[in-house]
Amino acid sequence: MTAAPQPARESALQELIDELPAGTVADHPATLQNYRQDWAHDPDAGTPLAVVRANSASDVQATVRWAARHRIPIVPRGAGTGLSGGFTAVDGGIVLSMEKMTDIVIDTATRTAVVEPGAINAEVKRAAAAHGLWYPPDPSSFEMCSIGGNLATNAGGLCCVKYGVTTDYVLGMDVVLADGTLVSLGGQRIKDTAGLSLVKLFVGSEGLLGIITKAILRLLPAQPPAATFVASFPDVESAANAVVAIGATQRPSMMELMDNYSINACEDLFQAGLDREAGALLIGQSDAPGAARRLEIEEMQRACDLAGAKESFCTDDPAEGEMFLHARRQAFQALEKRGTLLFEDVGVPIPQLPALIVGIEGISAAHGVEIAVVAHAGDGNTHPLVVHDGGDPESVRRARLAFDEVMALALSLGGTITGEHGVGRLKKGALPDQLGPDVLALTQRIKDALDPDGILNPGAVL
Ligand SMILES: Cc1cc2nc3c(=O)[nH]c(=O)nc-3n(C[C@H](O)[C@H](O)[C@H](O)COP(=O)(O)OP(=O)(O)OC[C@H]3O[C@@H](n4cnc5c(N)ncnc54)[C@H](O)[C@@H]3O)c2cc1C
Repeated sequence: MTAAPQPARESALQELIDELPAGTVADHPATLQNYRQDWAHDPDAGTPLAVVRANSASDVQATVRWAARHRIPIVPRGAGTGLSGGFTAVDGGIVLSMEKMTDIVIDTATRTAVVEPGAINAEVKRAAAAHGLWYPPDPSSFEMCSIGGNLATNAGGLCCVKYGVTTDYVLGMDVVLADGTLVSLGGQRIKDTAGLSLVKLFVGSEGLLGIITKAILRLLPAQPPAATFVASFPDVESAANAVVAIGATQRPSMMELMDNYSINACEDLFQAGLDREAGALLIGQSDAPGAARRLEIEEMQRACDLAGAKESFCTDDPAEGEMFLHARRQAFQALEKRGTLLFEDVGVPIPQLPALIVGIEGISAAHGVEIAVVAHAGDGNTHPLVVHDGGDPESVRRARLAFDEVMALALSLGGTITGEHGVGRLKKGALPDQLGPDVLALTQRIKDALDPDGILNPGAVL
């Protein structure tokens, strides 16, 4: 993209301010500071020309048409909880925030939710629950992140091991393309094979192909109550071996892993009663109906015992189970107290989980950096978090080396550099290694076809 020079951008901005409803465009320096980075805190983030807080799809269209006319970059923003730098402001660009577009309509006849992109995931869950329905995708950030961000990253979470990821619940969406055209894809129908699977193309597109202004989400009947078990292991490898054994015969509704470092970081922050001596903990759930639930939990505990668990405990009480999950969900916040974090998100085929986890220990030792591991272990998706001193260049250098080696290790095991957070800016250096030249070129051709001037989220992914 040949961008318009800064003075031309500033004079063009008045045009946008005049076109949109009063108060939609903000360009106060303090506001601009608040809209520069997501949770990955990219140090190279730019300072935007302005923040547009859209009220409607037509505001989004007007903003995109204006940006296309003036060749000004646009970075869409949901709630800014991304962990890969997918939302990172560009110098002189527009941050297009969806935070005011929060309508949620539940349609019980079709069991769908029609949702604006700024609605928070937890609000959608609550709205569905009021009708006895359930929206499953549950990133740990579900109380903070937006549906638009979830669609744009194809967010995962804790229940994916049984219930799949965001894309499995997206039946349709409205998208504003790079020339301002609004297209409606899919609809409130379970089956639809008319034309190419464009809904799937836009899920996970990280703001590169269009701006999502509405989502049609599939809902399920409310989840049956779950029973929870917690097993403690002498080391992470034996916990990973238990996950492999469980995955071969059972279908848990949740299977999370925490290593010793993460357990202790959580216990330091809030006392959840986790075993500080454990090398690793597995927290698993079953929501199978009736008596099958208890049987499934017993089978999982047996697999843990065989893999060398020190002890295990189970409960049918949802509140008690939630206490352990709360600790797991807060792990990132707890670990942030220990230092600057580089958020890994690699995934491997489940049988490779032990090799990944043992390999990460080796990388940690080789570079002299702490790597805490929390994982959605049941689906092979791990979050090795490289804890370092962000103010010390040598510590940053070693952390970055370790971060890159963890991705290379995952690829060597047939895995992926990102299971749910997306590539953003943090991981784009490793994307060619995973995709290879032909798939990378195909991806670039799709980007060029939909955004020929490259105004949508430049610098992310490709
Ligand atoms: C404590 C914590 C725990 C987390 N746990 C998980 C987890 O378990 N699973 C998981 O998957 N993620 C997790 N995340 C990461 C993050 O919450 C998800 O990636 C989430 O989907 C981002 O949503 P957001 O609204 O914050 O999007 P943002 O961070 O604002 O944006 C994310 C990306 O989507 C694009 N985007 C946003 N809205 C739109 C739109 N309307 N149209 C087009 N593009 C758009 C942005 O440009 C950016 O590329 C966690 C984050 C935190 C801080």
